[in-house]
Amino acid sequence: MSPSMMFDPYSIRQEFPILQQPAYEHELTYLDNAATTQKPSRVLERILGYYQTANANVHRGAHFLSDRATSQFEQARQTVERFIHAPENGQVIWTKGTTEAINTVAYGIEHLIDPDDEILISSLEHHANLVPWQQLSFRTGARLRIIPFTSDGKWQAEYANYFSDRTKIVACTQVSNAIGVQLPIKEVIQHAKNVGAMTLIDGAQAIAHYPVSVSELDCDFYVFSGHKMYGPTGIGVLYGKTDALESLLPCQTGGEMVLHVTYQATEFNILPYRLEAGTPNIEGALGLAAACDFLQQHDQEAVLKWEQSLAEKAYSILENTTDIEIFSPKKHSTLISLSVKNTHIMDLNGYLDSKGIAVRGGSHCAHPLMAQLGVSGTLRASFACYNTMEEAEHFANTLLEAIELLQ
Ligand code: PLP
Repeated sequence: MSPSMMFDPYSIRQEFPILQQPAYEHELTYLDNAATTQKPSRVLERILGYYQTANANVHRGAHFLSDRATSQFEQARQTVERFIHAPENGQVIWTKGTTEAINTVAYGIEHLIDPDDEILISSLEHHANLVPWQQLSFRTGARLRIIPFTSDGKWQAEYANYFSDRTKIVACTQVSNAIGVQLPIKEVIQHAKNVGAMTLIDGAQAIAHYPVSVSELDCDFYVFSGHKMYGPTGIGVLYGKTDALESLLPCQTGGEMVLHVTYQATEFNILPYRLEAGTPNIEGALGLAAACDFLQQHDQEAVLKWEQSLAEKAYSILENTTDIEIFSPKKHSTLISLSVKNTHIMDLNGYLDSKGIAVRGGSHCAHPLMAQLGVSGTLRASFACYNTMEEAEHFANTLLEAIELLQ
């Protein structure tokens, strides 16, 4: 059977035990996928199976279980490398998630930054891709500059003027978690290359929806979290080109990342271990590899189209209601993000929750973006492969009901 014939949200749903339970006395409608996705049985089974058959510390032990755990752990790394089309082995560094991956780079390049350098980020960043760069600029004196991408996704070509020979690194999200806008990352990477700057792409919101090829993107770093792509929490990825990873000074030191230690000096290990201090999240890595297999078993283009059609359905039900302002694009977004005049987001959030509908109300870790939009927060419904058209309609109609009741 071809992958596209295998995509059916109703049967995919069966793979997610958590979705089979009610919320209060209602069917659970889980639309908080941009915060974290649910986990398919195969991910849960992989983690359980590891503890039942292979649990041991990796790399260090010389015994049956340790060999087994090490081999599964390194196979998981290769699965993730293949999933993102990394050109070489050893370019995936395990982290706790996107936040830790970005911090690893922001601390790791500090020794390369001069006070007259510039660090570029976009105006649509999650705090995870803002605060580490802001703090790096405080520590080094380098200037943090914000590329003013507008929330409507229609930016002027003049943004290219932000890139200069002072630009040291450009850190940009692929998709905004708060408003679902896609950023022109290919262009951004090209502009950065033209001025010799490094590039980091925050793929946290893209990795579950878009096929990603880091080879094609040709960025220096690409980061994401397992839990947003049907994998476990506590595991994430820092992909880097080998020379870019080699330029990073380890921001965490200790066991695993060393070859030889004396009281006077330490010889660091080779990549990827040099950037992985301490016992890693072994079951997390295995679970993340299982999530990659899950995603690859389905036609990713078909899944993306489906998720976009769900967001578009909710959009078309809500777009003509006075008092609703929608900030996400109608097309090509996998989420809808909106505010309602004279109604508190958290009251709407609470009403939807009372009907078993899980959405996210708030600032989505993007205070500067909320200020740019002129709101304190938005209500966000974000879709995943297991969501149905009935759920999209149910969300939009229940929201209309809530607005009528609360206004
Ligand atoms: N970047 C983006 C775009 C995100 O949406 C998130 C989480 O919502 C993060 C970074 C941080 O991810 P984590 O909390 O898994 O480190």
